[in-house]
Amino acid sequence: MRSKTLYHILYYRIMKNGKLNHLFSLSTRMSRIALDILFPPLCAQCEVYLDSGVEPICKPCYQAIIKNSALICPICTARIANNKRTCNHSEKLSAQFPYLLGAAAQYSDPIVRSCIHQCKYEKVHALTKTLSLLLITYAQGLDPQPRIFTTNPIIVPIPLHTSKEHTRGFNQSAYIAQAFAHAMHFPYDELLVKCINNDPQAKEKTHAERFARMHGAFAIPRPDAVRNKNIILIDDVSTSGATLSEAARTLKRAGAKQILALVIAKA
Ligand SMILES: [Zn+2]
Ligand SMILES: [Zn+2]
Repeated sequence: MRSKTLYHILYYRIMKNGKLNHLFSLSTRMSRIALDILFPPLCAQCEVYLDSGVEPICKPCYQAIIKNSALICPICTARIANNKRTCNHSEKLSAQFPYLLGAAAQYSDPIVRSCIHQCKYEKVHALTKTLSLLLITYAQGLDPQPRIFTTNPIIVPIPLHTSKEHTRGFNQSAYIAQAFAHAMHFPYDELLVKCINNDPQAKEKTHAERFARMHGAFAIPRPDAVRNKNIILIDDVSTSGATLSEAARTLKRAGAKQILALVIAKA
């Protein structure tokens, strides 16, 4: 565990516990003061001292992230103008990707990659705040705004398998999706469950192998909540698109109408 991230881990825990009683209760405030003295708040990226200690990364680090500004085709990553696909893919391929994709940044961006990694594997949950802000700012800046935004779409996170969520302690995509739904005033609902614990295998190199592994990975316990609904799927990273594709196809089979997938980063 790196010391620069200790502050954010402890701060997150204190605030989370504090929220159960009173957000600014005396014990919460005292804990924060003690925390600031014991573990000075440092940027989770460059380790500069943070004045407020509330944001997990400093302003210059956040500003240095190269942000995207358009939706993309999930098949060829071509920019989509006016929220309509213009590239000509085969019917079979189009059916495999029944959604438009939005990515706030690229996974190759070192700050984005490090934030996602620390959030997922080093338990710096406070970084979901930075990642959510990135996604909300991206969505609100899309010009023109996707038409789906005017249809009160349901925000649905990509779920983890229960045993994986138990090991990791939380699902970062669900945190980001909740913050996104709150900021955009859209309903949030965990409509998908992961019924197969299928971690990516290093030996799976091809597109077809990755897609085959995801086959049947998701279930929808309440199909009535999906039928005729527009849905925005939220995940942290999209690599081959196999996860989003399987989730979107599962929702389509249950009668979902339009699907937009939004991720923090496209790899
Ligand atoms: Zn920094
Ligand atoms: Zn395309």
